[in-house]
Amino acid sequence: MDAAATVKAKPKKNMAKEYLKGWVSYRIKRYWAYVIATVIALVMPWITIGGNHLFLLSFDHKKLHLAGVAFDMQELYLMPFLLMLLFLGIFAVTAVGGRAWCGWACPQTIFRVIYRDGIETKLLGLRKRIKNKQKEPDMSKPENQLKKVIAILLWTVLALIAAADFMWFFVPPEDFFVYIQNPSEHMILIGMLLGIAAFIVIDVVFIKEDFCIYICPYSRVQSVLYDDDTIMAIYDPHRGGEIYEGHGYERHKTINKQKELLAVDPSAECTTCESCVTVCPTHIDIRKGLQLECINCLECVDACTTVMGALGKPSLVRWSSEKEVIEQKGKTNYLRPKVIAYITVLVLVLVSLFAMGSTKEHMLLNVNKTTRLYKIHNDGVVENDYIFLFTNTDSKAHTYFFEVLDNDKIKIVRPKEAFKIGAGKKKKKVVVLQTEAQLANDARKDVPIPVTIRAYATDDKEKIVVDRKTVFVYPRADLVKK
Ligand code: SF4
Ligand code: SF4
Repeated sequence: MDAAATVKAKPKKNMAKEYLKGWVSYRIKRYWAYVIATVIALVMPWITIGGNHLFLLSFDHKKLHLAGVAFDMQELYLMPFLLMLLFLGIFAVTAVGGRAWCGWACPQTIFRVIYRDGIETKLLGLRKRIKNKQKEPDMSKPENQLKKVIAILLWTVLALIAAADFMWFFVPPEDFFVYIQNPSEHMILIGMLLGIAAFIVIDVVFIKEDFCIYICPYSRVQSVLYDDDTIMAIYDPHRGGEIYEGHGYERHKTINKQKELLAVDPSAECTTCESCVTVCPTHIDIRKGLQLECINCLECVDACTTVMGALGKPSLVRWSSEKEVIEQKGKTNYLRPKVIAYITVLVLVLVSLFAMGSTKEHMLLNVNKTTRLYKIHNDGVVENDYIFLFTNTDSKAHTYFFEVLDNDKIKIVRPKEAFKIGAGKKKKKVVVLQTEAQLANDARKDVPIPVTIRAYATDDKEKIVVDRKTVFVYPRADLVKK
């Protein structure tokens, strides 16, 4: 980048003003996207519908809340659908818009913009210009050292808020603020809060964009999801001229390849002003072609739009596809078969998720027989004992009871009456079933008789009802004296 420093033409301010009239930079658009993403992340944990959160994975209460519906941990069959949605969504977005997530919504990018451009540059003046991210401040100066300490302290406060916000998706705010008032009893929570905040500080202040380049696994898989129609920040070598050896956009061959700088063709439009290079947060030169380090922030597009706009020309770096810019084979095809396939599968998974979610059981019942197979009373009455575990997965309390469906000779002896279970609570019940009738007559062995238990909420028998299969063991004939 240093060798190409010859500036061929200087931007003329008035001409630029005229040409760029009404132009809104990607930076401003990105800032709006950041504001929306931040507001959603901060507000979402506080929204409840009928007492349930929009999204909450509570290990504490062993609950998953999704769109205001609470699911018990035993109902986590929804989790694979959520993970499928997440991965398919990432694949679809990457195929269409490259690393759009990285540049427009990733917390790492948002944090870096707040810290580097907001706190260090605009607020404290530690860095001179947002447009030059390559120039590091002179840290030998005492005033810069002081500014750095202030910047880190300010960011630490924001990192604590970000860490708390992250935790609210696992420990809801109504519990979180109660727990932190009693830190000695919630050391794990406090430890996690401080640990996450410390990581955010170290990451944003010291690791910086190296996180995106060396740690984040997404950058490693992105290139295999790209095709000729994927849009990305892309330099037009046909107009701008080849700055480096090789075409620069043979995607799969050239990622991360070291390239030699060429002598710039004097007829080429690129002014070699390097604005697109100095503004890049990951310190790459977009004129080399697609590189793993590019986070699609489009700062280089804004930079070149300003430079070329001053000359009354369109930007040499555009948010477009190889097909349009490099191969010049016409417009980008957004609705191509691959994208339609992603959308179809996404819709199918989404429909399945809603279908499964709407068939949610409002109560759960586990039926277990006790270790004693049966008890025979003197009058020949046979008794079987069970442990029933009821779980009220609904958001309000209900009164429950049950019946034996397919055998009217088996009676419920215990419990005698319906019982109440609070919202989200469990109750264990010892259940005793008896029969006076001779249900079997086998001289050699005990006979397991299949029975169906129907448990229900007495106040909403239509909706809250479950059936469970179990057995009633009837003893060998010679054991039962009538
Ligand atoms: S090359 Fe740099 S400035 Fe341009 S989009 Fe990629 S990361 Fe952003
Ligand atoms: S591509 Fe645009 S911003 Fe980059 S050096 Fe050339 S003229 Fe300057």
